[in-house]
Amino acid sequence: MTLPAYLDFNASAPTKPQVLELTFDVLKETGNASSIHFYGRNARKHIENARSQIAKVLDVGPQQIVFNSGATEGNNTILNGFRDKRVLVSAIEHPSILQSCIANPEKIAVTTDGVVDLEAFEKQIAQGEPPALVSVMLVNNETGVIQPVAEIAKIAKKYGSLVHTDAVQALGRIKFTREELGVDFITLSSHKIGGPQGAGAICFAAKAPLPKLLFGGGQERRQRAGTENVAAIAGFGLATELALQDIEKFQSLRILREKIETRLLESNRVTIYGHNAPRVSNTTSFSVSGSPSETQLMNYDLSGAAVSSGSACSSGTIKPSGVLIAMGASEEDAKCAIRVSLGWSSTEKDIEIFLSAWDKMRSKD
Ligand code: PMP
Repeated sequence: MTLPAYLDFNASAPTKPQVLELTFDVLKETGNASSIHFYGRNARKHIENARSQIAKVLDVGPQQIVFNSGATEGNNTILNGFRDKRVLVSAIEHPSILQSCIANPEKIAVTTDGVVDLEAFEKQIAQGEPPALVSVMLVNNETGVIQPVAEIAKIAKKYGSLVHTDAVQALGRIKFTREELGVDFITLSSHKIGGPQGAGAICFAAKAPLPKLLFGGGQERRQRAGTENVAAIAGFGLATELALQDIEKFQSLRILREKIETRLLESNRVTIYGHNAPRVSNTTSFSVSGSPSETQLMNYDLSGAAVSSGSACSSGTIKPSGVLIAMGASEEDAKCAIRVSLGWSSTEKDIEIFLSAWDKMRSKD
């Protein structure tokens, strides 16, 4: 059976072969990383190795990395720590921020290009008591638009606010360190960069008060209770190192995306979101007016192209993407959105399969 072309890296990237190998090897081993015997020490070694690999990429000390189950947990952990405080978040955050413990965080507007509106943010933060936390993602998962997080942090710091960034879709796509961003907390996820699912991390500034979500164990220097997912964490560490090594290759995906977008724009029914904004190289988000996402997805699926409508987390619901609405798209257009996202194993052939599916659909117009 020929497998469909995979064009949904922002939902989850295929695991890289070297990472698979390491993860399997570690999975075959025995031991709880909290045990002091040989097996425990061996498991611990894998975790500490991964911690150093990730710390190096973000240019922080290893003690500034806490492992967890992924970015949903990471984002919930941070937001939970500011439950009763004033918190500002961008209007285009992932649901793990927008629907976390803070019932109704104040939203920071974005421009029609999908970039946080810095002027609006400056006005908003100056009104009322200074926020305890400002949370703005580094790269949006639906559009790939890069957010001016360093500028946001600079403004927020004038008011004494702590700053968090969800950098899940930025790791391995653009280069950044904690210090360059000037943020207090960063959340990461393994499976977006070719690591195993079920591992993630929070990186925090040395002096920042890291909130806790899970209690009942002394793991992760008492900062996150629960037995560590050793094999996935080991894979995550290696995947992070490889993602940085391959960053130039990742950036050359721009050429494949250009091919897709050039063809899409031949149709006057297509709008590409964030087209004029700085974007990571692998993502294109577009609407085909009058053609509901579900119908398009079915057609792509039948033609052997695996794409998504907006973010995977909201699939199965017919609600239009909140990200596109925040960018000023109409409800009708937002309900006709498709996201194509490429990655380390994408090929010209995948793009051809996608484009021939697109041609087939257009010919039915
Ligand atoms: N934030 C962003 C920007 C994401 O794209 C995702 C994954 N959809 C998450 C958070 C949640 O990550 P995880 O799957 O590791 O829980």
